[in-house]
Amino acid sequence: MKFPKEKKMYCKKCHKHQKFKVTQYKPGKASLYVQGKRRYDMKQRGFGGQTKPVFRKKRKTTKKISVKNKCATCQFTVLQKLKRAKTFELIEQKQRVKKSKKDVVFG
Ligand SMILES: [Zn+2]
Repeated sequence: MKFPKEKKMYCKKCHKHQKFKVTQYKPGKASLYVQGKRRYDMKQRGFGGQTKPVFRKKRKTTKKISVKNKCATCQFTVLQKLKRAKTFELIEQKQRVKKSKKDVVFG
């Protein structure tokens, strides 16, 4: 999927349309202190081996893409979910081709 680097959309904080910078969302480092991790670590303690199933049946070849939209004036950030795609690419505004089916750009 190709997606524009910059776009104009409504900013909740500015109450009008503003230029937004688009970056791909990447999950941060998993915390050691969230409830699920604490519970898992407690369960794993001592003898008994692996206590929870390990995921092995990976079938999907695509990933759902999330993007971060950041307002250029007030730095307000909105997350946006996109559809599934094998690859994701951010392109310049001038690279967008109108009415070309091959290079359909979403957003
Ligand atoms: Zn704003």
